[in-house]
Amino acid sequence: SLSEKLQGVFKNLRSKGRLTEADVKAALKEVKMALLEADVNFKVVKQFTNTVTERAIGSDVMNGLNPGQMVIKIVNEELVNLMGSEVTDITFGTGGAITTIMMVGLQGAGKTTTTAKLAGKVKQKGKKPLLVACDIYRPAAIEQLQINGKKQDVEVFSLGDKEKPVKIAKEAMAYAKKNGFDVVIFDTAGRLHIDEDMMNELAAIKSNIDILNTILVVDAMTGQDAVNVSATFDEKIGIDGVIITKLDGDTRGGAALSIKAVTGKPILYAGMGEKLSDLEQFHPDRMASRILGMGDVLSLIEKAEAEIDKDAAMQLSKKVKKASFDFNDYLTSMEQMKKLGGLSSILGMMPGINSSQLAQIEGAVDDKKLAHIEAIILSMTPAERENPKLLNPSRKHRIAAGAGLDIAEVNRFVKQFEQSKKMMKQMPNMMGKGRRGMRFP
Ligand code: GDP
Ligand code: MG
Repeated sequence: SLSEKLQGVFKNLRSKGRLTEADVKAALKEVKMALLEADVNFKVVKQFTNTVTERAIGSDVMNGLNPGQMVIKIVNEELVNLMGSEVTDITFGTGGAITTIMMVGLQGAGKTTTTAKLAGKVKQKGKKPLLVACDIYRPAAIEQLQINGKKQDVEVFSLGDKEKPVKIAKEAMAYAKKNGFDVVIFDTAGRLHIDEDMMNELAAIKSNIDILNTILVVDAMTGQDAVNVSATFDEKIGIDGVIITKLDGDTRGGAALSIKAVTGKPILYAGMGEKLSDLEQFHPDRMASRILGMGDVLSLIEKAEAEIDKDAAMQLSKKVKKASFDFNDYLTSMEQMKKLGGLSSILGMMPGINSSQLAQIEGAVDDKKLAHIEAIILSMTPAERENPKLLNPSRKHRIAAGAGLDIAEVNRFVKQFEQSKKMMKQMPNMMGKGRRGMRFP
């Protein structure tokens, strides 16, 4: 599998400190081969390896990781990006509009099964779905939908196999409105291959019904065919998202990896088995971990990342204790805050600080002001950043001009900064009384 291939790739990296071009090039050559063997689209592979190479060469190897693990970290992050990084759901109608979903795809991809699976998901959200049998060609297709609908306790609308799909769809919408259904899912007919009749029929439904979600169902096991099918469907009728089925049987992961990159359309859900409960929201990060198959390494990376934040927080609180806190530390603390969720989480690690002091310090770094503060500090010279005492009126004027802000704002910030420092100076005394030591969660 791809993950097994990749496991071997990273063992031979030797350099310490920074990743060298030779390290990265060698590893990425193997990654490229592994991805191609996993049936990832070749254009996607090329773009992917370029991005990773660009990012990796010269990047620092994080403490606690070896160079190989560092490359894995970057590969993992870029795999997540490739799949769209965010979780995407179907679009629900607003203002009382019925949420319409048209399921499209080749025969056998899993449309009918997934229609019923999706109905279950929609019901869990408190909606009332109606399933519509628009596949009038495949023998027993209507019956299959009815059986699955019954299992999910969801009503199925059908006019048998003598009426045209457009008429069935129109009547289903009228029925849904009359009977208070708020989600309507159309199960359509597929063909073994892309074919004009099928596309025309789907286009006809789309031009007669206000379809909010055109969802393409593809079989993961068909690999690159799934990607080509996605591109063609998107070109011919326009799709909003993809549901990838049979991921339970897919060992390569090529389709899951390429679809977003090739079509620009996200994967919303993944079919993980034949049972109607086997449908999962698609998480790009989990998929990347699964493809890399390096649970141990990935959790090691998470740990190393947490350590780095902890190190920085530790250094910062040491400085706070010595009251040698300067504007550079302020900048660092702002970055830390973004990561750690607020100054309070840094200062909260300090013993002997009470909540009103905390509130006062935090008042100086109100979120809305952060961008201004950053601009002010960046307009200071290195000497000024290290020594706040240098800041005389003429320097402050220069800084205000450089930051594009009013002098009053610079004065206010510097004053708040000095107040915070005074408060920090008092802290070692409070700590001297033998309270708790340093603690980290
Ligand atoms: P349609 O022709 O697109 O409507 O496809 P069907 O819904 O009839 O599904 C075709 C076959 O794929 C059926 O045997 C399903 O049970 C099977 N199937 C669908 N989704 C999945 C899945 O996520 N995993 C597995 N293992 N089988 C699936
Ligand atoms: Mg079907």
